[in-house]
Amino acid sequence: MKKYSIGIDLGGTKILTALVDRSSGKVVHFVKKKIKQEKGAENIINKMICSINELFDECKVDIKEVQALGVAAAGQIDRTHGIILGAPNLECFDLNIREILEGEFNLPVYLANDVEAATLGELKFGAGKGVDDLVCVFVGTGVGSCIVKDGKIIRGATGTAGEIGHIIVDLNGRQCGCGAHGCLEAYASRSAIEKRIEGSLKKGRHSVILDYLEEGKSITSSMIRKSIERGDELVTHCVDEASEYLSGGLASVINLINPKLIILGGGLIEAVDYFYQKTVKDAKLKCLPVPATKIEFKKTALGDFSGVIGAAYLDE
Ligand SMILES: [Zn+2]
Repeated sequence: MKKYSIGIDLGGTKILTALVDRSSGKVVHFVKKKIKQEKGAENIINKMICSINELFDECKVDIKEVQALGVAAAGQIDRTHGIILGAPNLECFDLNIREILEGEFNLPVYLANDVEAATLGELKFGAGKGVDDLVCVFVGTGVGSCIVKDGKIIRGATGTAGEIGHIIVDLNGRQCGCGAHGCLEAYASRSAIEKRIEGSLKKGRHSVILDYLEEGKSITSSMIRKSIERGDELVTHCVDEASEYLSGGLASVINLINPKLIILGGGLIEAVDYFYQKTVKDAKLKCLPVPATKIEFKKTALGDFSGVIGAAYLDE
């Protein structure tokens, strides 16, 4: 076994590339590149190759000391063949990441979904260390999750298990990006909260969030936190509403899977402790009394690095 692996987290807005020490799971060095307008397969591949070369240049590690290269991508993937089937946020479709990167670096390349890689990172070195039955839930643009049973990730018949964001919480509810109505992520994601706040502002409701919001820019998790800290009625109401739905979704997960631990992560959870605390308290009240006595909640421990750390171990 060689000393290092490279983990890449290919998100909708950035590429994070890290050299990971395999024995400790520590990130030795990382390169972060933003993805703005320049999307599409060619641009994304070029950025990834540049990031890996930069990483080698900056940390002076010989490629011979690297065991594998793991890529965590937001989108639908074919793990077996290392192909990104569809990543609409990156405008990448049927992209054979493995073939291209193996050709470029002559290292074995592995591909995983971003939520799965982040869960693997948390399971091995983060909030899930030592726990073998858990569910990781990430709240961001959508709501994603990954189920771990007996220390193994449950992928399901088509490799798509864990789609908590598409649990239907209102039969006649809001339209979801997936085409169905009333999915959890149409209510509990950061994007859903943003839409609610923006909709109310357009109708003329006042909020202190306007103090932070520049023309043409979107609402961020930290703007939400600052507004709640200032007692803003509108933002607090929208966050409370999202929390009501998320706690209901989590209660359903607790009742269905009965995990020991639920790890919550993503920008909104990290930035807005009020949202985390309220959701956890309510989920315990909403689930059945017996699983409620055992369930534990934690926030992710590796933050932004959980995906790259997990990706570094995809060869195991
Ligand atoms: Zn949906």
